[in-house]
Amino acid sequence: MASWFGRIRDGLAKTARQIRERLGETVGIEADASVRPAGRATGVERIETFDALEDAMIAADVGLPATAKIVEAVRDDGRGSLGERVGRVMQRILTDVPAAPAISTRPHVILVVGVNGTGKTTTVGKLANFYHSNGQSVLVCAADTFRAAAVEQLAIWVERAQADFIRAQSGADPAAVSFDAVAAAKARGRDVVIVDTAGRLHTRTNLMAELDKIRRVVAREVEGAPHEVLLVLDATVGQNGLVQAREFMAASGANGIVLTKLDGTAKGGVAVAIAHELKLPIRYLGVGEAIDDLVPFDAGAYVDALFTDK
Ligand code: GDP
Repeated sequence: MASWFGRIRDGLAKTARQIRERLGETVGIEADASVRPAGRATGVERIETFDALEDAMIAADVGLPATAKIVEAVRDDGRGSLGERVGRVMQRILTDVPAAPAISTRPHVILVVGVNGTGKTTTVGKLANFYHSNGQSVLVCAADTFRAAAVEQLAIWVERAQADFIRAQSGADPAAVSFDAVAAAKARGRDVVIVDTAGRLHTRTNLMAELDKIRRVVAREVEGAPHEVLLVLDATVGQNGLVQAREFMAASGANGIVLTKLDGTAKGGVAVAIAHELKLPIRYLGVGEAIDDLVPFDAGAYVDALFTDK
């Protein structure tokens, strides 16, 4: 199995290739400090490189506001190669977000929210596996009681992750199921509870009300819960996911992002757009369909994967 960094690099391979194609040779070339007044970029760079840079950032789905910020910062920072300069500002954007909450309560309660099809259920299974691999006991709750097939799929992954599983009868109240799950985890001394919530789009108002109710109900059972609300976004959707994300943030109090399907897209720059626009930390990347295809996000590794040669 590839290292954790190798897996981030593989997941970002399409995005990196596209950016490099658009930037061509310039990505690794040092700006010539001798002809650059007061640390600013050279005239030649200004004309050719910045157009290419803007083009590459937009194509990678970094989005207009973050692209403008990157181009401006690169213009003002003449130290190192273009790749290094872009990498530095990207890393700043990615880390200029609130820190992830520490695990300080048992059970640590995580709600996983997002629209159906983004990879939410798969992510819940992967997360259960992730915590189990790190020596923590996990209880998974299927609060999405209307998708029998998804629940069956999740049950298989939960078993492989050696986690407990609480599932409700079809049509049961998701908040009540979540409450039961958290209570059970408390009674059994489990370290982590992961709740897979519903993601139907056609009843948006009900969905948001339901998420809000789940939050309130679990807060009654465990202090500070939910400690994490992870919003799952599909990287292949790119910028369009941001509108959705804002709505979920408001209703669910999302405080972290899982960016899935990175392996299938050249739009991996959307991570930068998300951090810049939503001011939320990217917590994990989904880099494939298998149970262990989830890697913790690291801004330094992300930037290296895009701009540093192996
Ligand atoms: P949900 O409807 O949001 O719960 O989505 P699912 O978890 O059922 O996933 C939808 C599809 O996306 C499935 O075919 C998954 O295998 C696939 N998927 C989920 N995460 C990833 C990922 O990180 N990479 C790839 N390539 N596929 C993924």
